[in-house]
Amino acid sequence: MAKVNLKTFHKGIHCDDNKHITRDKPIEKMPLVDDYFVSLSQHIGAPSVAVVEKGDTVNEGQLIAKEGGNVSANIFSPVCGQVIGTEQRLNKFGVPANYIHIKRSEGQVATLPDIDKRDAIAIKERIALAGIVGLGGAGFPTHIKISPKKPVDTLIINAAECEPYLTCDYRLMIETTDDIITGAKLLAKSLNVSKIIVGIEENKLEAYQLLQKYSDIKTVLLKKKYPQGGEKQLIFAVSGRKVPAKGLPMDVGVVVQNVATCKAVFDACIKNKPLYERVITVSGLGVNNPKNLLVRVGTPYAKILEYCGGIKDETVKLISGGPMMGVALIDTTGVVSKTDSGLIAMTEEEASLVQPSPCISCGRCAASCPMNLMPMYIDFYTQAGDYTTSIKYGVEHCIECGCCSYVCPAKRALVQSIKLCKAKLKEKN
Ligand code: SF4
Ligand code: SF4
Repeated sequence: MAKVNLKTFHKGIHCDDNKHITRDKPIEKMPLVDDYFVSLSQHIGAPSVAVVEKGDTVNEGQLIAKEGGNVSANIFSPVCGQVIGTEQRLNKFGVPANYIHIKRSEGQVATLPDIDKRDAIAIKERIALAGIVGLGGAGFPTHIKISPKKPVDTLIINAAECEPYLTCDYRLMIETTDDIITGAKLLAKSLNVSKIIVGIEENKLEAYQLLQKYSDIKTVLLKKKYPQGGEKQLIFAVSGRKVPAKGLPMDVGVVVQNVATCKAVFDACIKNKPLYERVITVSGLGVNNPKNLLVRVGTPYAKILEYCGGIKDETVKLISGGPMMGVALIDTTGVVSKTDSGLIAMTEEEASLVQPSPCISCGRCAASCPMNLMPMYIDFYTQAGDYTTSIKYGVEHCIECGCCSYVCPAKRALVQSIKLCKAKLKEKN
């Protein structure tokens, strides 16, 4: 391949990506299990409202919960079965939440009616109806993101997948390239923009080469650096536009969508299939048979790990999502939601279990922060209970990428401190 000028953003970190564990594992369809627990909060915004009751029979792809407010999303049954009821379970953050319990049985697959794919409004309505949310992890309802309040001229497709271990987006790009590009074009049509740019990291060359055949799409090869897939970092790297500190991508004429979201848009508009399954990466040295798996939402994590040969006794940490921005789980009772991208079982060799020590004022956290913040001061004032002073050091602009914690030689839990500070400020306001 001819030498390409790699684009990137300022600061950030270089970390082992560990993608070799699953990058060559084709997507496998996880066999169906007996019980599904479908969360009513799988997105940013108001929880969805159940439209089924205990004893109801449901088909795969049937609406089971309607959007519960202006920012919310519909939810569809992942399987045919009987509704056992709405139950409260702890979500992956350890907070009680409502889930619809479905016991699987035989039945039909429900699909949505055809739409006119040339009609921007029809596409937008279909995306809303199908319950599509950002599958890159944020979970913001897609129909709202494609209704910006300011004019935009560019759709950027986030194919960076910069989180270590995760390869689900990479496999989707290799195995369903046409579907993703069709989904991206449908999104562009709904936004009335003609410029589509795909930003992809240099460690995904096979996918980059496949994208080269679409002459109407610009593909930008990015340096392998974390958090290259952060929205503001990606926009700067591929377009040179700087989103203002308190601004949104639309402030610089851009909307960003992830590759898995493009695939979900393709499924909804072309195959008339709402969103009730997704690809996740099951990886880490603690997993016996790591895989990229197509799983239904509501599948228990325990069943997924069992299908992957179980976890080794040496596992010391289990994470939902990637190791940088994911959530450490206390057990395997969680279930898959629309925003889950991975399940990582780490051994001691991979997980840092070192106890934090006092800050040594080395400045490495600030030097790595892609948002130019002062994490050490935010941590200091948060520990002192002075949350307001942390604002001065940029706590509100933190994207929770975890670079600061990663580089800290004192192993300070800086992101946890920042999250706590944000929560306290929110409580106060
Ligand atoms: S302060 Fe926030 S944005 Fe900066 S490195 Fe830490 S987690 Fe990332
Ligand atoms: S990296 Fe850690 S030790 Fe160094 S200044 Fe930041 S918080 Fe302190």
